[in-house]
Amino acid sequence: MNLTQLANPRILDQPIYTPGKPIEKVAEQFGLAAHEIVKLASNENPWGASPHALEKAKGALDQVHLYPDGSGTFLLERLASKFSLSNEHFILGNGSNEIIELLGHVFIGENDEIIFGEHAFAVYKLVTLLMGGQPVSAHMPNLTHDLTLIKESINSKTKIVFLPSPNNPTGTTNTKDEIYSFIDTIPEHVILCLDEAYSEYLDDPPDIRPFIQSGKKVIGLRTFSKIHGLAGLRIGYGYGSKEMISLLQKARQPFNANSIAQAAAIAALEDEDWVLQCRRRNENGLRQVEQGLQNLDLEYVPSQANFILVNLGNGKKAFEALQRKGVITRAMPGELAKYLRLSIGTEIENEKVLSALEEIVPLLDHP
Ligand SMILES: *Cc1c(COP(=O)(O)O)cnc(C)c1O
Repeated sequence: MNLTQLANPRILDQPIYTPGKPIEKVAEQFGLAAHEIVKLASNENPWGASPHALEKAKGALDQVHLYPDGSGTFLLERLASKFSLSNEHFILGNGSNEIIELLGHVFIGENDEIIFGEHAFAVYKLVTLLMGGQPVSAHMPNLTHDLTLIKESINSKTKIVFLPSPNNPTGTTNTKDEIYSFIDTIPEHVILCLDEAYSEYLDDPPDIRPFIQSGKKVIGLRTFSKIHGLAGLRIGYGYGSKEMISLLQKARQPFNANSIAQAAAIAALEDEDWVLQCRRRNENGLRQVEQGLQNLDLEYVPSQANFILVNLGNGKKAFEALQRKGVITRAMPGELAKYLRLSIGTEIENEKVLSALEEIVPLLDHP
């Protein structure tokens, strides 16, 4: 009997998430200097974290020999006051991805059906399969979640609907009214997980707190990885009813949110100016990139977030050609294979990616 035969059979079929290559590896491979590389691959904040958050992160190093506050009290208090909820409405995660996994542990059983859009964020499917659930994919006309189609996919086996708004990788959103009336009509046996990883980029994001307070089975996910610029520290949170959160707490490892991340996240939450500035800069960057793509006659999916899908005919080929020029982007799988996802960078980074695109486009068989 070999080791693989001892593995849980489910794990053998489990797809693997393939992350992009680190900057240093790309530099080495193509004979470039690491500082010449532009990485616009993972929707990080190109302006980085709030300087206050960095200061607090550095300060927290002095206590790094101690375990973190296992209940994350101070960060929970800040979240509670910011949201006008209480600590018991929040759970911290090692990135909000961990909260998706906790939802899986707590709610997904064999053959439960989990619904999300066909081009939704990839992690919902990975977690569903890992837990033995059945992924149900809903068609996304115009690459946008269609809540009517999702509603039609709900049956007695449905357990969770994942709805990312804005969605990654399409950058598309649903309106507040669509989301609210969806929550209003969702059946009693179904949980809605609204993934708000990019909601800080919206001027007027939906507010699910009234639904949480009125007992709807809805949970919101937020992260410090995107606009807050703390992706490397791995911290995010979920918020929902006290009952929802206390169930998720049972599946959580005791010290999942590290002390440096907790300290930085508190300061990042308080620095609302930084968040606002980054939102405005991203709006300008998005306009700059859209204008540049129009000048190059490239079709793109209008985005509400800090990234954009560009139709280059063959995303993988474009990815490789750009990487040779020191620009790291993200090619898309499956039916999105003609697209490349570009994160919005600083003005200079955006200029670089646009001029690299201008050089490679003639080499591609783009439409
Ligand atoms: C980036 C992202 C997340 C969060 O990632 P973490 O770094 O684990 O917090 C969650 N949902 C979507 C749609 C994302 O794009």
